[in-house]
Amino acid sequence: MAAEKAKVLVAVKASPEPSSTYGDTVCVAGIRLDRSQPEWIRLYPIPYRQLADPKTFRKFVVIDVDINASPRDPRPESRRPVLESIVPQGQPWGNRARGALLEPMVTTMCHLRAGLDADINGPSLGIVRPATVKRLAITNHPGWTGAQTRSIANFIGQPSLLNPDARLIPLEAPRFEARYEYTCEESGCKGHKQRILDWELVAYERRLKSQSDELARASIKDKFFDMICSPQRRTHFIVGNFADATKRKNFSVLGMYYPPAGSDYGATLF
Ligand SMILES: [Zn+2]
Repeated sequence: MAAEKAKVLVAVKASPEPSSTYGDTVCVAGIRLDRSQPEWIRLYPIPYRQLADPKTFRKFVVIDVDINASPRDPRPESRRPVLESIVPQGQPWGNRARGALLEPMVTTMCHLRAGLDADINGPSLGIVRPATVKRLAITNHPGWTGAQTRSIANFIGQPSLLNPDARLIPLEAPRFEARYEYTCEESGCKGHKQRILDWELVAYERRLKSQSDELARASIKDKFFDMICSPQRRTHFIVGNFADATKRKNFSVLGMYYPPAGSDYGATLF
């Protein structure tokens, strides 16, 4: 069957994970703009580090991409992108345009979680507003597992499948894991604790390479808690779960959207 054409505003890019097929891949999620109303979509797998320049894209850029059903992933939003078809369009959207699209889609974390209790193949992506972010817990990353290390090792020095001029560079394990502990806007929420899988966290960590653990943790807290979750911001988390049915009820924070508090994005554009 011919692939379907989709136009997607990229809202999140998760950090790269080892893959036995590509060395490492990234999960991208966003909003389809070519449907009668906005719809979440997950594009996986994308061996992002192997994409050649014209196909790379930043967050909040619109991409045109051909998609197929995702044979091994029953989550309703998941599609398999045709990598060669990716064409980024223009510059990243600003906060006002992001808000106009994202804010009407806000749900609560408790609601998403209850949806999976009702149907394990229910909605697996969403945007939620934390009522209170209690803390950001930072721990050391345990390093890649044996299987992950082997997946990476199998590809070292191999020509990239997508970009034959490139040789794959082994994917380093992140240094830390960070988890938000928060309550959502549902009344009676007992709280959620979710790991941040945003690629920005890993990229930020890399810039702190020369710092001691203590200083690096303080810098991560400065940005991902004090700044992003500040009362001066209207903080949103874009959340998603795991494909593995046994972990399907575990959501992670895949990305954040945090315009200034008091802005009316989402209310006025349309
Ligand atoms: Zn909740």
